[in-house]
Amino acid sequence: MILVLLGPPGSGKGTQAKRLSALRGWPQLSTGDMLRTAIAAGSKLGLEAKSFMDQGNLVPDSVVVGLIAERSSQADCKNGFILDGFPRTIPQAQSLDQMLTAQSRRVDKVLLFQIENEELVKRLSGRRVCSNCGSMYHVEFSPPKASGVCDKCGSKALIQRDDDQAAVIEKRLKVYQEQTEPLVKYYTDAKKLKTLDATLQPEQVEENLLKMLS
Ligand code: ADP
Ligand code: ZN
Repeated sequence: MILVLLGPPGSGKGTQAKRLSALRGWPQLSTGDMLRTAIAAGSKLGLEAKSFMDQGNLVPDSVVVGLIAERSSQADCKNGFILDGFPRTIPQAQSLDQMLTAQSRRVDKVLLFQIENEELVKRLSGRRVCSNCGSMYHVEFSPPKASGVCDKCGSKALIQRDDDQAAVIEKRLKVYQEQTEPLVKYYTDAKKLKTLDATLQPEQVEENLLKMLS
């Protein structure tokens, strides 16, 4: 199964990709995570990507297409994978189709996470992430048990992502609307798109998602 999770920043794609990956064994391929790993490692690619990301802009198509081409060719992707945050532009979707066609594979399903901008701003501005283990929190909706301490690993480094600052959030939502939303038509025309209500609790979204896959 090759699955694309499509939706605006903060719609919960990453959360669901992780759950589904654990449940079904398909690796989660998140271009956002790959880019942040490259930044943390201080690589040339990371350095180039950081300036785009900090301003809420997309990283050039060639960079993310390269990352996905490499990662998806690894052995653990043989039985399928979950794309989280890719493709984000029409050219990326076309490159993905070409790449998969060359391997006699194809995107099986695209799940669209539907949610209003107002709710996204609330989610993103309160989001905190453990810089040690990657666990996600929200200052209001899902705070850690002890204030400022990660439940999972005990680290006190709960930080706000640079691109979760208010000014950058607005920009990311605008970029989504302009560059990523055209993919809704692209995948509707390909008869692959299904829509999920992403305003529900994560457990409920997961249940609905599993139903759509069966
Ligand atoms: P979110 O979905 O919350 O915006 P991500 O972690 O998916 O978070 O992405 C963070 C940033 O990484 C994006 O704003 C963008 O700059 C860059 N990025 C991630 N995936 C892509 C992609 N497929 N194409 C271009 N840029 C990307
Ligand atoms: Zn942690």
